[in-house]
Amino acid sequence: MPELPEVETVRTGLIPAMEGQVIARTDVNRPDLRWPFPKDMGKRLTDVRVTALRRRSKYILADLSSGETLIVHLGMSGRILISGDPLGQFHHDHPVPDKHDHVVFHMENGARITFNDPRRFGAMDLMQTATADQHKLLAVLGPEPLGNAFNEDHLVAAFKGKNTPVKSALLDQRIVAGLGNIYVCEALYRAGISPARKAGRIAPRRVAALVPIIREVLAEAIEAGGSSLRDFRQADGALGYFQHRFDVYGREGDPCRNPTCTAQISRIVQSGRSSFYCKSCQT
Ligand SMILES: [Zn+2]
Repeated sequence: MPELPEVETVRTGLIPAMEGQVIARTDVNRPDLRWPFPKDMGKRLTDVRVTALRRRSKYILADLSSGETLIVHLGMSGRILISGDPLGQFHHDHPVPDKHDHVVFHMENGARITFNDPRRFGAMDLMQTATADQHKLLAVLGPEPLGNAFNEDHLVAAFKGKNTPVKSALLDQRIVAGLGNIYVCEALYRAGISPARKAGRIAPRRVAALVPIIREVLAEAIEAGGSSLRDFRQADGALGYFQHRFDVYGREGDPCRNPTCTAQISRIVQSGRSSFYCKSCQT
């Protein structure tokens, strides 16, 4: 499942083909993904210029010259492929059409941008740019983890008196938007905080220390994604999937990377999702 750094990498990869460019035509090959597409989506995405490509949490937002904004969510298995890019950055021929190619943007510059999603948990919607923040998917979101509103005071206040595990608190999109399972595990390891510890029982000093750590973990992954774009050689031209080295995620039974620690990484299940951590380093 794509997390924030993967989505940011997709956005960065789309910029040369899409930002400032005109969508000549959009093929909409089915009526829905997770939810029905908006009325006349193909028509509303024809002959419009993409004036800006933004990201909010795990959503990509394309502002259009029509005054509307397209919101795209990759869901569990959504992939965006670029082919025929005229800028020479991506050397991919147009792929053979696939039955899971649900929406295809034909850019005036010759690029083709294909949204492929076998499991169809992805989503697309159109909204007025001026009121985009009020869209039902966006209105519920807390501050961006890399933005100024996510700061020490905010997190300390959000955790105060909270009886849920810190893992769940950090996955709560109202507290911080766009953090997912992988990067919460990584941030808690770096902070030395057990994922099972109650959020309200962590000393404010340690809660505050989480803020720069979360930013750092995300920034490193975004940097790795950027590198993956620079040597973009994937056969099918899909954006945003890259190898990244994790300290705890997916490493159950492997040795802890803290050189002074002899423990192995443990896995517990919290709210139906795996948490990876070091019992010795994280308390
Ligand atoms: Zn350890």
